[in-house]
Order: sequence, then C-alpha cells, then structure tokens
Amino acid sequence: MVPKDDSYYANSDIAIIKGLGTTYTSSFYKKGIFTLFDLLLDFPFKFLDQTKITKISDIRPDGGFYFIDAHIVAVQNVLTRRVKMLKMMLQDDTGKIEAVFFNLYPNQIKAYTRGRRILAFGPVKYNDYNGVVNFTQPTVTFLEEGDEVKPQERMTPVYHAVEKVPQAAIRKAVNGVLQSLHAIPLPELLPQKHNPFNLTLSQALDLCHYPFPPDIPNQKIIPEKTEGFKRISYEELIAYQLTLLSVKRKNEQHNAVAIDKALEDTDRFIKSLPFELTGAQMRSFKEVQQDLSSQKPMLRLLHGDVGSGKTMVAVLAAIQVAKSGNQCVVLAPTELLAQQHYQKFKALLDPCGIRTELITSSIKGVKRKKLLEDIESGEVQVIIGTHSVYQEEVHYRNLILAIIDEQHRFGIDQRIALLKKAPSDITMHQLVMTATPIPRTLQLALFSDLDVSTLDELPKGRKPIITAVMPDTRKAEVIKRLDEVCHQGTQVYWVCPNIEENEDETESVKTTYKELKKQLPDLKIGLLHGQLATNEKNKVMKAFLEKEYDILVATTIIEVGVDVPNASIIVIEGAQRLGLAQLHQLRGRVGRGALDSYCILIYKSSETDVNDIAMQRLSIMRATTDGFKIATEDLKLRGPGEVLGNKQTGFDIFRVVDVNRDFELIDIARNAALDIIHNDTETCRALIARWFPKFKV
Ligand code: ADP
Ligand code: MG
Repeated sequence: MVPKDDSYYANSDIAIIKGLGTTYTSSFYKKGIFTLFDLLLDFPFKFLDQTKITKISDIRPDGGFYFIDAHIVAVQNVLTRRVKMLKMMLQDDTGKIEAVFFNLYPNQIKAYTRGRRILAFGPVKYNDYNGVVNFTQPTVTFLEEGDEVKPQERMTPVYHAVEKVPQAAIRKAVNGVLQSLHAIPLPELLPQKHNPFNLTLSQALDLCHYPFPPDIPNQKIIPEKTEGFKRISYEELIAYQLTLLSVKRKNEQHNAVAIDKALEDTDRFIKSLPFELTGAQMRSFKEVQQDLSSQKPMLRLLHGDVGSGKTMVAVLAAIQVAKSGNQCVVLAPTELLAQQHYQKFKALLDPCGIRTELITSSIKGVKRKKLLEDIESGEVQVIIGTHSVYQEEVHYRNLILAIIDEQHRFGIDQRIALLKKAPSDITMHQLVMTATPIPRTLQLALFSDLDVSTLDELPKGRKPIITAVMPDTRKAEVIKRLDEVCHQGTQVYWVCPNIEENEDETESVKTTYKELKKQLPDLKIGLLHGQLATNEKNKVMKAFLEKEYDILVATTIIEVGVDVPNASIIVIEGAQRLGLAQLHQLRGRVGRGALDSYCILIYKSSETDVNDIAMQRLSIMRATTDGFKIATEDLKLRGPGEVLGNKQTGFDIFRVVDVNRDFELIDIARNAALDIIHNDTETCRALIARWFPKFKV
C-alpha cells in the first residue's frame, strides 16, 4: 500500500533497516538521526568518482582520485624505525605506477602478492621530496583474472563520520532507504508550477546522495551546489514561509484588544523628555499607536541602526497600553539586557505612574511570590524579563502587547509560548525589534509576515564616531594614550574576542585584563565576561555606569544594547575575527553621549587570517558608520546570517537550508508560499507537517 503522507519515512525508526545492528543504530541516534527521513537528509560531504576505469598512461599527478584495473608486478616492504610502508608497482596494458600503503596489518601485507589483479582507487600525486608520482593509500578490491569490472554509474558518496560505523555501512543504510523510495515514494507536494527544478523530492534526494559524474573529469562536486540539493532547500524554504504565514493567519482568527491612543499621556511624556524625538521615532511611534488602536493584531518589526532610539518607541507603546489599563511584556534575549531595559523603562515610566517590574530566574522565594501576585492582579503593568516571562507559573491579568527585543534570537516556538499568555480568544499585539538594520531583501525573506517601521535617522547632535584601524604592533601606543584620556575622565571599553586562534574568549579577556592592570596601575579596571554569575555581571555594569571603572575589559558580551553614555572610546582587539554586524554593534556602544567618540580596531598583523575579506570589513568600518550601508555590504560579503549576528540567529530551525547559502532561493520560495497558502490548503498543511511538524496547523 502506498501511503499518502510522509509517515513511513517520518515515523519509521532507522532500527528497521536490515543489517543495522543496535551498536550502529545508537551511533546514529547520537548524531540526531532517528528516522528514515533523518537519514535521507544526512547528506554526503563529498564524492568519489568510481565511474570510470582510467588507463595508467592517462593518469595526471594532480591529486585527483583515479580508479585503475591493474596487476601487482613488484612488492617491497619498507620497514624503518620511523616508517612502516608497503610499496608496490602496478601495471596495466598502458604503463606502470607506484602505490604506497602505510601501517598495514601483517595479513593485509600478505594479501598483496606479485601477479594479483586489483582494482585500486585513490589520489595520485607528484611527491616533491622524492620526485615520484604515486598512488597514496588507495582503496583496493582484489579481482580474479576473469572478473568483469563494472564501474559505478553514479558518484560514490562519502558521509560525515558516524561513531564506529564504517563508511560502507552508512552507504548501505542510506542506499537501502533510497531504494525503498521506489516502492514507497515520498508524496510529491510541490505543485508543478512551483517547481522550477523539474525534480521530485525523491529524485532530488537520490541525486543528492548519488549524483552523476561531473562533465569535466575530476571536477569537484559540492553537494550543496547541486540541483538536487537546491530543490530540497527550496521546498524547506517554502515550508518555512508557510509556517510564518500560517502562524500569522491563526493569530488573526482572533481580534486583538483595540486601545485608546492615550494622546494626552504620550504627548506629556514626549514633552517631558530632555531631547526631541527624531522624525523617524515619531513616525514609527505613530505607526505603532495606530496599530494598537485597531482590533487587527499588530505584528510589526521595528528596526534601525544602533543608537537610533528604538527603546523610546517601545516605551511609548508601553505607556499607551498601561494607560488603557492593560499589561505589556518586554522580552529580552539575555539577563544583562533585560536588566538594562528594566532600568530604562522604570526610570521613564515611574513618573507616569506606571509600575514596571523585572522577572528573572534569580528572583526567588517570597519576593517571587509577591511579584507573581502583582502581575496576576494587574498591579504591575509593564513586565520585563527573559524567557521567565512566559513560564507556566506566570499569569497575567490582561496582557495585550508583547515587545520582543532581538527577535531573531527567539524561535517561533518561544514566540508561540509567549502568545499563549494573552487572555483567551484574544491575540496579542506584537512589536519586535532588532538591534541591526535589516536590508529590505532580507526583510522580505525572513520576516515577510511582519509590517515594518524603520528608524532611519539618528538623534540630533550625535557626533560621528571616529574609527581607526591599526595593527597590534601599535598596541603600546594605544595604551599610553588611554592613560592620558582616562585621567581626564573618559571611560573606555576594551573588547577582546579570542585573540589567539583556539583560545576561548574568557581566557583571552582575563589575560588582557591582567596585562592592562600591570601597564596602567593607577587606573581602575573592570572585567566582564559570560562566565560571571548574572548578579556579578550586573554589579560590574552598574559600577562602570557609575564611573567606578575607567576601563572595562569585556568579551563580546557587551555587544547588545548596553548603554553607558560616558564611555566614549572602544578598543576592539582581534577585530579581524569579527563580522561587520558584530563590529558595528560593538562600536555602537560608544557615541551615545555628547562626547567625541572613538573606535579603535586592532588587528593581529602576524595572522595569515588577515585576509582580504577581513581587511575589507575593517575598511568598511573605517569608511562609514551607517548601519544600513554596513548591513548591505555585509550581505554581499557574508550573507544574511552575518547581518543578523552570526551566533544564534534562530535559523537553526532549518534542516537543510542555510540562509547564507540559499539566499537567492528565498524570494521565489516566498512567492510560491503566498500562492500555496491562498489556493492550496492541503499542500500547505502537508509541507508544514513535513518540514516543521512542531507547528502543525
Ligand atoms: P537603540 O536603537 O540602539 O536601542 P536606544 O534606544 O538605546 O538605541 O537609544 C540610545 C540612546 O539615545 C539612549 O541613551 C537614549 O536615551 C538616547 N536617545 C533616544 N532617542 C533620542 C533622541 N531623539 N534624541 C537624543 N537622544 C536620544
Ligand atoms: Mg537597544
């Protein structure tokens, strides 16, 4: 019976594969491969070409792999104290070539006797040190004289290692599942008109594991660049877009709470500020205000350059909500950031008679109990925190707005967990913010479900940050200069990611801390890194904010959002290792006050890794402080993963897709998704079930 869905592949444990014993099975489990579908998606990382037998006279010593059918005409066992090598001469009807093997077992050596016919497959190289061309460690199959040799039709896959499972066994297992696709095909879900690849999913899978040999001999096949692979990525991208669109649709099944614009309160607040809001801030706030006054759930992205004042727009939204007698949550990705938001929001909202509270996992006991009560009773109107805000135990009275900072750090499932905190039959309004401006193409691709407000204007009076790029040989000069300016009251960030290769950030930052303390004995120096406990971190930040330190030595932990207006110099060591987005974020830590600000990017001059791209990045940093420009350049240089901060982009939800690599597919995938969601509910459901089963709709 042919099933109509993916259940056979999605639900069958790999244990059903014949010949795959429990040892092998558990090794696959350890790699996260549980089902037949998982195994199908475990693609090879390279291929061997055993599709044709090469005559020895046609072999070029280019390091490429060759497959020959030859006889052993001489064997020599080379045994010295340092090498155990078996050398042999192979011959076919066109010529001879040497083959070498290292560290063979005695009974392997015994098998290589003169006169035997073998199939050898391996790389052939010219060896500089002795001028000999040879096969190195070829894979050998012994043949009898009359045996007929049939080369493979397709390339032979090589898979990433699975503990204790030999390649041949991985191959056999995957091949078995591929074969079963003939009898039990995966349903073909992509409508013909949305399949520019002309391959079914089953065909594409087959080709990903067993591609045809390249047109040009020895040309490398990169698995991710094959049509089959793109076809599969494309389908997953469509499914992703469908998931976003469906979540949005589902949200729109219920109304949001429409609230009054609270014009008087927000006006009064704006007038009370020591500065004037920028045009972009006003425009963005009006957009949010308008959305909140409608029953249609708001789903809006607020983005803008570092320092463009996103927080102010969020605070205004919070005022509007609180004044309507409802609650809003501000969700931050780290405790440090939650803490900072809390201080800012509280300082701005207290005078308006709005109660703001922070909820984190470190608030415990009676205090926590009281806090939870006050949230449930509605006495607290603005609740700030990390994932604590959507824990089971937190009950809200009337939570109608979620402000999500750095939304790309949260998965869709976390967003859904938060949305469940809305009163029943009510959809929450959502305002999501990112710390990095997002180029338009990328917005469409990854946040296509959102309306967008852009802060494309910096507050008046901001002085541009002066950026200098210099080699580490000039570090002593920089330190000397810091000594002078710090004595005049300037505060400095000194950031070191891992300066040495293979070094961890914490080690690096501790070393630098000690070094600076030694060289600058009369300055006060603080240390901040991710391994400190949360309250330790907060203490250090607070001390820096209160000018108890002249210099704060930190890891890239300070990248996001941290705001100390008096800090006007940032030194970034090992800058060649950081991406543009991250450098820009870090630089954005200064230039927040009225002082002239400087960013000093120090690169390691000895490092071969100061390659073109790294230097290009640094010169872009020197040339512009415009985050939109930087994001666009970054997109060109490195792709969107980088633009959004490369670590936790939240896109690890993909199984096949890599947003950097598959960027050019995103647009057509989105168009296909828009058509499918409107016209083909069944396909929409099936695609989501296949790729994002957690979000079954
Ligand atoms: P970001 O967009 O990077 O989150 P913030 O909201 O943290 O920026 O704002 C950066 C700094 O600029 C804060 O100290 C904030 O008080 C200040 N700020 C915000 N808006 C204005 C404005 N219109 N004029 C002057 N300063 C502003
Ligand atoms: Mg911010």
